[in-house]
Amino acid sequence: MRLVLIGAPAAGKGTQARKLVEYYKLAYISTGDMLREEVSKGTELGNQAKSIMASGGLVPDELIIAIVQERIKQDDCKSGFILDGFPRTEVQAEKLEEMVHIDKAIYINAPDELMLQRITARETCPKCGASYNKISLPSKVAGICDVCQEGLIQRKDDTLEAGKARLKTFHDQSEPLVEYYKKKGILFEVDGTGQLEDITKAIIQELGALA
Ligand code: ADP
Repeated sequence: MRLVLIGAPAAGKGTQARKLVEYYKLAYISTGDMLREEVSKGTELGNQAKSIMASGGLVPDELIIAIVQERIKQDDCKSGFILDGFPRTEVQAEKLEEMVHIDKAIYINAPDELMLQRITARETCPKCGASYNKISLPSKVAGICDVCQEGLIQRKDDTLEAGKARLKTFHDQSEPLVEYYKKKGILFEVDGTGQLEDITKAIIQELGALA
């Protein structure tokens, strides 16, 4: 099963992806996590991406397409994968379609005001990428990742200013993908304002037949 997840920043893509990966035993591919790793290693790509990411823009299509193209060739992707954060533009979606068949695009729909609240209260693990929310989804021990015990941080782009810019980028460049996948007949839309478990259940109910 090959899935893509679409949604505004902080809509819960990463959180849902991690549940689905566990349930269906799929490879998890987060382009945001991959780029953050490049930034922390200080690679040429990381240096190119750093300021773009901090300001809430998108890294150039050709860069991210090349990364994904390599990643999905790896062995762990053979029995399926979830793409979290890719595609984010129509060009990326078209290229992806040339690379591989996608079974379902899951759109987690949630309003901007709630996303801004979540962005500014979000804490992220710099090691495994798990994310928490100081108010609605705290880690078991304050400031420490439940999964790998690393100290949690606030991402550089999880400020109010960068959050607003990311939401604008989402509406301008990524939201058209909802129509794109609707036309292909593979879109599943889920309300992202509900309880995490209910959202996971709704997705699994939809995907059940594909698994
Ligand atoms: P979000 O919480 O906004 O979904 P991500 O962790 O998925 O954040 O991505 C963080 C940043 O990495 C994005 O704001 C963007 O700058 C960059 N990025 C990630 N995926 C892509 C992509 N497919 N195309 C272009 N830029 C990307």
